[in-house]
Amino acid sequence: ECLQGRVLRVRGLNSEVEVESGQIYQCATRRLLKTLSTDQRHVVAAGDRVWIRPADNHEGIIESIEARYGILCRASKGRQHVIVANVDQLLIVASAAEPYLKPNLIDRYLITAEKAGITPIICINKVDLIEPADLQPLVGVYGQMGYQVILLSATQGIGVERLRAVVRNRASVLSGQSGVGKSTILNAIEPGLNLRVGHVSETTDKGRHTTTTASLVPLAAGGHVVDTPGIRQFQLWDVIPEEVAGFFRDVRPFITGCRFPDCSHTHEEGCGVKGAVADGFLDVRRYESYCQIHAGDLV
Ligand code: GDP
Ligand code: ZN
Repeated sequence: ECLQGRVLRVRGLNSEVEVESGQIYQCATRRLLKTLSTDQRHVVAAGDRVWIRPADNHEGIIESIEARYGILCRASKGRQHVIVANVDQLLIVASAAEPYLKPNLIDRYLITAEKAGITPIICINKVDLIEPADLQPLVGVYGQMGYQVILLSATQGIGVERLRAVVRNRASVLSGQSGVGKSTILNAIEPGLNLRVGHVSETTDKGRHTTTTASLVPLAAGGHVVDTPGIRQFQLWDVIPEEVAGFFRDVRPFITGCRFPDCSHTHEEGCGVKGAVADGFLDVRRYESYCQIHAGDLV
């Protein structure tokens, strides 16, 4: 008589669980589950897939939590805190203009996605402001790496139908610089979705110490988008320089050609990666992006 469900949000000791019928149960967590966790306050996270034992008044008890995948977390006081679990895809939102396109920033989000094992989808919005053909070289580079790229104009309705199909029945996180059109895109996908994304001012977000609670917002057509006031938290590049090459899909194949096993691919003689750039097998801009991220430079 247990029901399978998905945690939409956690409020204190209670979790809001959506079951398959779409009904929502306010759930406490079985004490036994808490004793299995090192972090008793945060046993359950938004996005968790759970089994609940329902009771009256749409209340219930979480009996078990399924193994997580696609976790976005935040480090605080030396401990990893799960913001949201079981995220299927990271929509990396950029704009073709206003603010101008920053491919290097896309590359950073790609690393976040690669590290978390979440499928990235590159969305370039505001294509109405440019000549779309101008984007083809960039789209080609990402496409060759196997990334899906969607060109959008949220205000003109271009690409919206395609994006709607992409978010359907999946859990998606939107990320991207402020002003690129995240709120407008969400509103184009489903009018009336009232998310906090885009409403966070950088200054208040940085200085704030309140807990960042994420929530899953159900989409009418099926699927969820993750809403969090701390969306910028995902921009923590807690990647050490040595790992960066492994997260660059296009760089990775060439590191086996390096003379030194600890090659940083920035200045060494006999570097397979630099060789690939020289021979035209690796996009120069991507290589420069690699070097910047490896050096820890921010955009
Ligand atoms: P957010 O900060 O990423 O949530 O960005 P918003 O959705 O608030 O959009 C920022 C500005 O860009 C607003 O003035 C929007 O009207 C505008 N905008 C959004 N999408 C488009 C688009 O496709 N084309 C154009 N020209 N402007 C857009
Ligand atoms: Zn090398």
